[in-house]
Amino acid sequence: MIGIYQDDFIEYLKRKLGDHIKTSSKNIICPCPFCEFGEEKSHYHMYISIEIPIFHCFHANCEKSGSLKKLLKKLEGHDISDEFVDKEKLAEITKQRKIFTDQEKTQSKIQVPIINSSKFMLKDMYMKQRLKFSRTTIGLIKGLIFDVDAFIEMNDIIVDEGLFRMREYLQQNFVGFLTENNSTVIFRIIDHSHSVRFYKLKIQQSNFLDYYKLSGNNQNSNKIVLAEGIFDIFTEHIFDTLNIKQNIKLYASALSSKYISLIHSIIFHEQVFQPDIIILSDRGIGREYYKKLKKYNKHIINRLDVYYNKTGKDFNDTPVTPIKYTI
Ligand SMILES: [Zn+2]
Repeated sequence: MIGIYQDDFIEYLKRKLGDHIKTSSKNIICPCPFCEFGEEKSHYHMYISIEIPIFHCFHANCEKSGSLKKLLKKLEGHDISDEFVDKEKLAEITKQRKIFTDQEKTQSKIQVPIINSSKFMLKDMYMKQRLKFSRTTIGLIKGLIFDVDAFIEMNDIIVDEGLFRMREYLQQNFVGFLTENNSTVIFRIIDHSHSVRFYKLKIQQSNFLDYYKLSGNNQNSNKIVLAEGIFDIFTEHIFDTLNIKQNIKLYASALSSKYISLIHSIIFHEQVFQPDIIILSDRGIGREYYKKLKKYNKHIINRLDVYYNKTGKDFNDTPVTPIKYTI
């Protein structure tokens, strides 16, 4: 058995897609039949969850996703999922998932330098101001980076031309946040001295959109909170304006409005099954966008609630006056 699948599922995939089938502790990774069929590559983008009968292609131009049935229809012409999915195992895993919160860390370990607030006073002040002078201890914020040079040194980050040009600016004017799967540092400028306000530094290969994550108070919940900006989730996490933290599993941001990619990343990498999603929306994104998002992703989203801040452009613009729309 591989998760919920009979052993011959792998054999079947090899027959259909070639020998390049890999398995991790959560997914089968193989060539995408929609966009990579017959192509020779060093890595492929189709992820098939081994706990839930769903798939997703993380190739930026493809992003095909859906139930295993849909994948098998593509491969076989009709649904033969019953031949491969062990129904008892599926029921057992669905039950177990509630208590199983182990994290897969396939990426190599990345270290973050200790926060030195007296050496980086402006960065420290910026963080305090963005966190509304709450009692959060800046030095304990997960993945926060002030000393960019030290971070590059201690992790042997390759300094390519782009980083070479940005390095001094990053060291002087940016705070960084290491993403959950250690693939990216999301940098945010602390003043307006430079036209570049954000910078994403890719430090390791990842086939999916990586994200910054904060834990909620209920690890068994299927409720997740998403926002475009890191400070949106910080503000809600700290002040709990919506009074939901007790029931939330996680808060995530990818410094991107690609919510569909973010949702897929979280389903596949946090193993959240059919999440109830709460989006803290920027004012600029209309409800039509979310209606489409819900419509095309019905198979993986249980519920979608979108909040706007009536008195600000986003959720870091305090005090927040939330208005809720159930999509
Ligand atoms: Zn694809």
